[in-house]
Amino acid sequence: MEFPMTLHAFHEAFPDETSCWFWLRRMRWPKGFRCPRCGGTTSYRLARRDLDQCQDCGYQVSLTAGTVLHKTRVPLRTWLLAVFFVARHKQSISALQLQRDAGLGSYKTAWLLLHKLRAVLGPDPSALLSGLVEADETYLGAPHEKGRRGGRAHGLKTLIGAVVERRQGKGHLRLDILDSHTFENDLGPFVRGVIEGRCTTVRTDGLDGYRPLAAAGIEHQRIVQGTDRSRSVKLFPWSHAVFSNLKSWLRGTYHGVSRKYLPRYLDEFSFRFNNRGNESAIGTAILGRVFSSPPLPYYRLEAELRG
Ligand SMILES: [Zn+2]
Repeated sequence: MEFPMTLHAFHEAFPDETSCWFWLRRMRWPKGFRCPRCGGTTSYRLARRDLDQCQDCGYQVSLTAGTVLHKTRVPLRTWLLAVFFVARHKQSISALQLQRDAGLGSYKTAWLLLHKLRAVLGPDPSALLSGLVEADETYLGAPHEKGRRGGRAHGLKTLIGAVVERRQGKGHLRLDILDSHTFENDLGPFVRGVIEGRCTTVRTDGLDGYRPLAAAGIEHQRIVQGTDRSRSVKLFPWSHAVFSNLKSWLRGTYHGVSRKYLPRYLDEFSFRFNNRGNESAIGTAILGRVFSSPPLPYYRLEAELRG
């Protein structure tokens, strides 16, 4: 099932709620309806809600129950439109822009919708990186910190770690927030947690926090770079590109993001990076995540919005 690649195709595939419902239903249950109670294979659609009713026993099954779309009041078409923007726009979309483009009544609706989508884009913990990888770290700062001196010293900047495979077009990326440059608490668990230990070579700069990698049994290329930036870009092309794209994305689309929400944005960025060679499948991949992820209660997100 191919998710539409253009807005024109989107409007043709999803002219109304009914078409969205049938499309999503086919995606979720490719073999058709099967009643969980009696095994019946014929159902009626209860159009008022997103329900199938079993013709044999009357049991009602919801298309969205138990998924991120659980009890959503937002039309399915709006959800699909948001998936389209997240999948098709290299720079993704902000809540304000989604509110405008989808004609949503409130900013809050758009914000919640996008956060629910981002919440399903986290990395698959079993998909470990391998081969030659670069491990590096950088600081991100929110815009309101500009002009404040010693932001780093005051802990206002956020340290981000990256491990990225050096594999043209296919290399995968993992990002995480770190509290420090120490091996024991931060760099070690992060790097070791995302790589296939025996078949990975980790290239890092001369930072002390990476030194214990070798003692931990990991093949380590430690390269002391000095201060020449162009040499550093040559040695660590992937992590440099990732950090520079990440920073310009956060600045451009979201005008900076607070630390509280940063993990979700890192997930969204990594998801897009990791699916970059797979543009026609990215919309379907997002929807696959939507249907395999548990509901994210509204109150939890609302607390975040207020907080
Ligand atoms: Zn039944």
